[in-house]
Amino acid sequence: MADITALPSEAVKLFGSAASESARPSSPPPLSREEACHWVRCPDDDLAELLRSARDLRYRFKPGVITYSRKVFLPLTNLCRDYCGYCTFRRDPGQPGAHTMTPDEVLAVAKAGEKLGCTEALFSLGDKPEMLFPEMRETLRHLGFNSTLHYLEAMCELVLRETTLLPHPNPGLMSSEWISRLSAVSPSMGLMLETTNEALLAVRAAHDNAPDKVPTRRLRTIEEAGKQGVPFTTGILIGIGESAEDRVDALLAIRDLHQRYGHIQEVIVQNFRVKPGIPMHGSPEPSRGDMLRAIAVARLLMPEVNLQAPPNLSDPDYEDLLAAGINDWAGISPLTPDFINPERPWPHLQELAERTRRKGFELRQRLPVYPEFLSRLASAREPLASRLSASAAADGLARVRKRTAA
Ligand code: SF4
Repeated sequence: MADITALPSEAVKLFGSAASESARPSSPPPLSREEACHWVRCPDDDLAELLRSARDLRYRFKPGVITYSRKVFLPLTNLCRDYCGYCTFRRDPGQPGAHTMTPDEVLAVAKAGEKLGCTEALFSLGDKPEMLFPEMRETLRHLGFNSTLHYLEAMCELVLRETTLLPHPNPGLMSSEWISRLSAVSPSMGLMLETTNEALLAVRAAHDNAPDKVPTRRLRTIEEAGKQGVPFTTGILIGIGESAEDRVDALLAIRDLHQRYGHIQEVIVQNFRVKPGIPMHGSPEPSRGDMLRAIAVARLLMPEVNLQAPPNLSDPDYEDLLAAGINDWAGISPLTPDFINPERPWPHLQELAERTRRKGFELRQRLPVYPEFLSRLASAREPLASRLSASAAADGLARVRKRTAA
């Protein structure tokens, strides 16, 4: 079994670190707000220059490789106390499709993913449904837990003990106590900031009746993860009623937290897509140009942070996003659908590898925690420590195992 404490230096050799990269004399200074606001609205004639700058920075950061996380998607519960205007995932109790997974279901999916070479168990779930629904309180009581977060913690531990997968929980807002508890059973976790625009909480706006989408509360969770040194994934959602300048402000808020705590392992730039039946079904989607500008500006604002965009939300020409400076394709499953965007299947992994190769990159499988953050987990407790040692290759990416199917 590999010694986890030996991994980071190898990882740093190949992928660099915030400290080593920032010391490079050739690195240009990060973009100011004023410059970012200019570029996020730049005319088409200037887009090529913006993209070239973003690509140059991506090349300095991690040349030649685009990563993805081979995962199973575990929608632990789709009950949620929030009602975001763009969401097709959430259900009320009794609605068709409302479901809370049992431990047997969690384990069956995780074991099936293990056979297909997955290394991540992504737990995505609604935020605190038991606070709104007595039915969820009854479900949790039947399962033997006081809250959804207690149940999530137990399921992360179950996956760690019974499979080779590493959990990555995405449960919504978390207190400092819950960040601490969940970090004992997962190497990384996530919470999308989405936006810092509080006007989106207004009646009929995207976050009307979504108490967990108050930006200051989400920033507090991300900051608390930083104080505890937890490798953290966050990002912005574009096209939900915010302005281009709001996108810059959300990215700056993430950059500020990363400058203070150094814990943001990746930033996602996700685009709103219209889906039938959602309250925002009549809202326009952001254009391809909006998406390219937002990604490129994110790269210019954070030259040394992993930057990701989901390919299935930019079909059919998702490889165009590589031109804007991303270095990761997100979690992709060979087994489970994208339950958040079920109408948009993930690309087949062989096709993704081929289309990435045609753009000049090698597609590599990573763990839910990025190589340069493994050093933060050197004192992880069991069984997390053993799972990390077994899953990480010498370069900090995923140790690729033989699979029983493609
Ligand atoms: S996006 Fe998340 S928080 Fe909002 S309604 Fe859907 S599941 Fe709930």
